[in-house]
Amino acid sequence: MTTPYGSTTLVLLLGVLLLAGDALAQTDEGWKAHDFTRPRPVVVTPGPATGPVAPPSDAIVLFDGTDLSKWQSVNGGAAPWKVEGGYMETVAGSGFIQTKQAFGDVQLHVEWAAPVPAVGSGQGRGNSGVFLMGHYEIQVLDSYENDTYPDGQAAAAYGQAPPLVNVARPPGEWQTYDIIFRRPHFAPDGSLKEPARITVIHNGVLVQDHTAYWGPTSWLQHLPYTSHAPRLPLILQDHDNPVRFRNIWIRELDQTLPPPVSPPPAEPIVQLDPATLDGYVGTYQAGGTTLGRVFREGNALYIDLFNRAQGGDAANQLLLPHSTTDFSMHWTAGDVTFTLDDAGVPSAIRVVAAGFDLQAPKAE
Ligand code: MG
Repeated sequence: MTTPYGSTTLVLLLGVLLLAGDALAQTDEGWKAHDFTRPRPVVVTPGPATGPVAPPSDAIVLFDGTDLSKWQSVNGGAAPWKVEGGYMETVAGSGFIQTKQAFGDVQLHVEWAAPVPAVGSGQGRGNSGVFLMGHYEIQVLDSYENDTYPDGQAAAAYGQAPPLVNVARPPGEWQTYDIIFRRPHFAPDGSLKEPARITVIHNGVLVQDHTAYWGPTSWLQHLPYTSHAPRLPLILQDHDNPVRFRNIWIRELDQTLPPPVSPPPAEPIVQLDPATLDGYVGTYQAGGTTLGRVFREGNALYIDLFNRAQGGDAANQLLLPHSTTDFSMHWTAGDVTFTLDDAGVPSAIRVVAAGFDLQAPKAE
């Protein structure tokens, strides 16, 4: 994770390698890491800067401008960065700092400013980084009129995905990152189930849109995912440049995976034979309005509510029988109750769902 690319020797060597390997830069799958021939993200001028964005009530404030009590050195001990004037500043050579608390899925707000005057060029100008879970970097770099390889500029998922646009402010001006991060998920055998994903808004402009990392951040390596804990500390990078940070707050997000695209189980609670189900079939109307049309397909009963089946029969609600009178809807939180006449034949329906409670007799 440490990236010693401030070395003049390494930079010169890298230049030679790039010249030699230029024609082999793009692969069938996309772009190789750190490709200088990759198109530059379009420059967008952000709207006017605002003051610090106050944290919401449920945020954990990681830095309010006064002290580094929520942070420590990744090497152990107190965080060795400078705090003054309401900001913290990287101390060259002091090392990365990390939060004492560990996090998984989060919304993160970070404000940062590149050094003034701008010193150096490329990766050597205003370089730091926000490492989610200590592994997945969103690059911090002075990318105002400072060219570098696109997957290494400000707001890049470093070495993997350039930002959609370059919306950097000039050095010295405060910039905002609003980050939504979803952690990777691993199977019990350690294999990857879901990659880490990141969405970033830089100075009010979308720059990463649910971007998947192909692995942890690295430099001149292609590191595979390796199973890790569901929560790990947030890390800020010391890249030998005096980058400033202020107003850092974080909100923990629900750790569940996105909802499945497959339907929930459709097993009926009780089994009703087709002949019985046919007794429910019909149109239920009140005051000239159709509440629902009930029909059977195979061993399943469906309802088309309010004649809304523009999507065809598949768009209708499967009804799951709990008894001969009580059914639940498959897709919507709602109950359907039938009234049976003296002969046990359904004669009326009641539908309770989405805040309504309506009844209607079965039309003759
Ligand atoms: Mg960096």
